[in-house]
Amino acid sequence: MDRERAMKAIGEFLDAIGEDVSREGLEDTPRRVADAFAEFTSGNAQSAEEILSRTFSVDGGDMVVEKDIAFSSVCEHHLMPFFGRVAIAYIPDKKVVGLSKLARCVDVYAKRLQLQERMTADIAAAVMKYLSPKAVMVWCEAEHTCMTCRGVKKAGSKTVTYKVLGNFPAEKLAEAFAFIR
Ligand code: ZN
Repeated sequence: MDRERAMKAIGEFLDAIGEDVSREGLEDTPRRVADAFAEFTSGNAQSAEEILSRTFSVDGGDMVVEKDIAFSSVCEHHLMPFFGRVAIAYIPDKKVVGLSKLARCVDVYAKRLQLQERMTADIAAAVMKYLSPKAVMVWCEAEHTCMTCRGVKKAGSKTVTYKVLGNFPAEKLAEAFAFIR
């Protein structure tokens, strides 16, 4: 990120919306916002491959469910946060990863300008690609501040997305949903 340019643009933006950028409360705002967005987009510089490529061998192929992975991201349509939780269920094919790796993989995709649908699909695709499980299901529930603080203003409304890849047996999928909820 070009921090200087971002700071300048945020100052311009504040000016454009009629703020006095020289008043005390806004003095450091361009820097704060630029730094916040550097963090919000830090996933662009990371790859799921690094995180998911270190796997362990397992004999059995029992389903693994990692749930309540908290995340926050920024909606690319409004540049406003959306946040919630992700669950990842997969049926290994001889390979598993450390559980913290799945949570880190979520952050790789959350820390970008995102759409919830794409984030969900990207996480599923990454698990499929680097872990080669028999099947994976990624489920995401989030509150979008662009919905709860503007527009229709439905406080507390949640958006649920999920993506299934591979051959997930229906009864296993039902089990996974039961665990997650
Ligand atoms: Zn939005």
